[in-house]
Amino acid sequence: MNFDYPPEAEAFRSEFRAWLDANFDRSVVGDAVAMRAVESPEILDRLRTWNNALANAGYAAIAWPVEYGGRGAGVMEQVVYAEELSRAGAPGTLNVIGISNIAPSIMQHGTEEQKRRFLEPMLRGDEIWCQGFSEPNAGSDLASLSTRAVADGDDFVVNGQKVWNTFGNIADWCELLVRTDPNAPKHKGISCLLVDMRLPGIEARPLVTITGEREFSEIFFTDVRVPRSALLGPESEGWRVAMTTLTHERGGVASLHLGVRKKIAVLFVLARSTRRGGRPAADDPVLRQGLARLYLEGEYLKLLSDRAVSGLLHGRAAGPETSLAKLVWSECETHVAEMAGQLLGPAANTGTWGRDRVYARALSIAGGTTQVNKNIVAQRVLGLPRA
Ligand SMILES: Cc1cc2nc3c(=O)[nH]c(=O)nc-3n(C[C@H](O)[C@H](O)[C@H](O)COP(=O)(O)OP(=O)(O)OC[C@H]3O[C@@H](n4cnc5c(N)ncnc54)[C@H](O)[C@@H]3O)c2cc1C
Repeated sequence: MNFDYPPEAEAFRSEFRAWLDANFDRSVVGDAVAMRAVESPEILDRLRTWNNALANAGYAAIAWPVEYGGRGAGVMEQVVYAEELSRAGAPGTLNVIGISNIAPSIMQHGTEEQKRRFLEPMLRGDEIWCQGFSEPNAGSDLASLSTRAVADGDDFVVNGQKVWNTFGNIADWCELLVRTDPNAPKHKGISCLLVDMRLPGIEARPLVTITGEREFSEIFFTDVRVPRSALLGPESEGWRVAMTTLTHERGGVASLHLGVRKKIAVLFVLARSTRRGGRPAADDPVLRQGLARLYLEGEYLKLLSDRAVSGLLHGRAAGPETSLAKLVWSECETHVAEMAGQLLGPAANTGTWGRDRVYARALSIAGGTTQVNKNIVAQRVLGLPRA
């Protein structure tokens, strides 16, 4: 495998790096990632202003086609883009779920009117989107969802409950999966609606997580009248739309290693500067072995990402290696947090490390749980029989 970047990707790196150096000011933008937008209108505003700046310069959604405000960037430019944002410590766009997961579904299945209406405000971060898929009894087994939409004249009347909706309490719009035909086989009777979160009968209740944040909500729908024009794709063919969304959700693995390898590098610095019994912690042979294991895990994750990128460059759709990378990433994040605990002791219970130590759990669930990903790897990579 050739690890060199093509000249056009390096040219894009120089251009984007120069723009970031000139335009990203941490003291103005802050260091908040998009997920923190739920915490206060002030953080939301700051991130929105930054998102607008990215959009004005054509750097909000570089993978989108030019006609929708993107740059039609190739795979290597997307890799470089993620690397440069990470290097600068700059947040990306506000609509993390909208831009990477929901927009591809709108582009593929939406009407021209839907594309015109929704894509630009999503790109600019002027409208926030959430994904209304999971329910209390439909998570890994998403096709069991039971939120009902009954046709009534020009509307659907929606009743039911969603849960774990990232951005649910600040979202303007929701990509909502509903059951329109309860008599059809479970994958067949589902439709997808683009729902205005301000419609009467919708209530988003923020869920406070173990980190004390309100990253997601549960959303209740009571006799909500949603116009038929909100259908994304044909009625009762919502499963196809959902698969487009989820394929893109799982396609973001190529840059997962960036954040976690940055944290590993910080742990190495800390191991040298933290003193234990009058000596640098890095002198402890047990700790050194742990750090070495962690380093290798990070490099392994990078190679998995490179392999996924190579597949994309050769025109192969994201396959089961995506599940493997997701699995290794969430485990690596957990091991990083555990190592911070070993190294820093009680000091790792507060601040960023403290948050990471409890948040790492969520990474084994979001975007496909560890067990479900292990099933995929077992069946599709190792060829083992279905459990
Ligand atoms: C940070 C975060 C953000 C999220 N954001 C959103 C969002 O924006 N929108 C949204 O709709 N949802 C969102 N979710 C929900 C997420 O998609 C679900 O939590 C996930 O699909 C798992 O579903 P569940 O929680 O119902 O667990 P379940 O599916 O009930 O699983 C419970 C346990 O059983 C195991 N299990 C389930 N099936 C199998 C099987 N076949 N074989 C072996 N083990 C199995 C699971 O691995 C898990 O350990 C988010 C979750 C997290 C953590």
